[in-house]
Amino acid sequence: MQVPAGSPSPRLLVVDDEAVQRLIVTRAAKTLGLAADGAATLAEAVERVQAVAYDVVVLDLGLRDHDGIELLRSLREAGSDAVLVFVSGFDERVRQAAARLAAALGLRVAGTLGKPLQVDRLVALLRALPDRVGSQGAEETAEIDPALLAAGIENNEIICLFQPKVTLRERRLVGVEVLSRWRSPALGLVRPDRFIPLAECTGLIDRLTYRILEQSLRLFRPWRQQQPDMTLAVNLSPISLTDLALPERVSAALAGSEVPPAALVLEVTEGAVMTDYVAAADIMTRLRIRGVKLSIDDFGTGHASLLSLLRLPFSELKIDQSFVRTCLHDPEAPKIIRAVVSLARELGLQLVAEGIETEEVAALLTQLRCPIGQGYLFAPPLSHTAMTERLRESVWAEAVP
Ligand code: C2E
Ligand code: MG
Ligand code: MG
Repeated sequence: MQVPAGSPSPRLLVVDDEAVQRLIVTRAAKTLGLAADGAATLAEAVERVQAVAYDVVVLDLGLRDHDGIELLRSLREAGSDAVLVFVSGFDERVRQAAARLAAALGLRVAGTLGKPLQVDRLVALLRALPDRVGSQGAEETAEIDPALLAAGIENNEIICLFQPKVTLRERRLVGVEVLSRWRSPALGLVRPDRFIPLAECTGLIDRLTYRILEQSLRLFRPWRQQQPDMTLAVNLSPISLTDLALPERVSAALAGSEVPPAALVLEVTEGAVMTDYVAAADIMTRLRIRGVKLSIDDFGTGHASLLSLLRLPFSELKIDQSFVRTCLHDPEAPKIIRAVVSLARELGLQLVAEGIETEEVAALLTQLRCPIGQGYLFAPPLSHTAMTERLRESVWAEAVP
């Protein structure tokens, strides 16, 4: 059940008219090593199955204007050999009838699930598929008991590490990004790639995000007194960008911390924004009105339309590590970076390059006029104590003369 090395990732399509459901399934699919697309309407789904040979289709039977059954015909006409998972709020008999119909049409059915969707059951279904689907990530995520994570959050086992953002020319500290870790007595130190998707799938993400926000603001406050221009960046889960109460909750956390809103940067990935554009635009605009800054993380890796993305009230743009890491060897990467530098300047966005590991890369980025960098060259994510000690350093990694 492993994906052979070098073969393309299996592809999953989730057809559901609820943006949050699509997002949850997409994130769960990613933890299994599947490339996932979403479709909100029957027309969109039909277009996709005609264009892409999906390995798995997760289908909501009750779409707003149509029933999901209509897609079965399109799948058959497209000669699809996708495995189907039916999701529906209807009772089990309806789901079973749909499964029988699909089988009669010569389609493969992995199983049916009720709503609200239990992601651990979806993951179990996908992992049980005979071929191509379900890679190592699945075992990692499935292995952790959500109750253990819930207890870990309550017991303050989630800790904040801080990675500096520095100016590339002068090597001065301008801010820190919070990167969380779970220090679990049972599992050891767990990286965010393992527990964040689990928190998202199990409804724990809001609790986790606010804990991280409160903890990091509290730890950050004295640093800010030493260095008043410094910012604190916290990563937001894409799920949070569908929570309309987010701006109030962020304001409440800020009010309790005595850190001014302008010192807080919330980092979101471009895919997150496009899941439910209207909700994301609403939440982000209200956060900006409250004075909080917003950053597009991993810029260049999503499939967002540039126009929609740049219409949102971002204040910062972070060039993804993949361009930074390859910029010395891939002749296209510096061209892309140069274009992003000029785009950021035109739009008045702060620009940060992440994943800078060597002086050579830092030198090239400086030459390309990228102002700020982050990466192991300057410091790995540091504990609060280590960061407090290094705060006294005036220069981070000696710049090349
Ligand atoms: P990100 O926000 O893009 O963070 C950058 C990641 O790159 C971090 O991985 C960081 O440790 C790593 N990194 C930094 N400098 C270098 C470098 O020079 N070379 C290389 N190879 N890697 C570098 P980390 O800490 O494992 O976090 C991974 C992702 O997990 C983050 O990506 C972020 O999306 C997410 N994450 C981390 N903490 C949180 C959190 O508190 N909440 C949420 N929602 N997501 C988080
Ligand atoms: Mg980030
Ligand atoms: Mg990033």
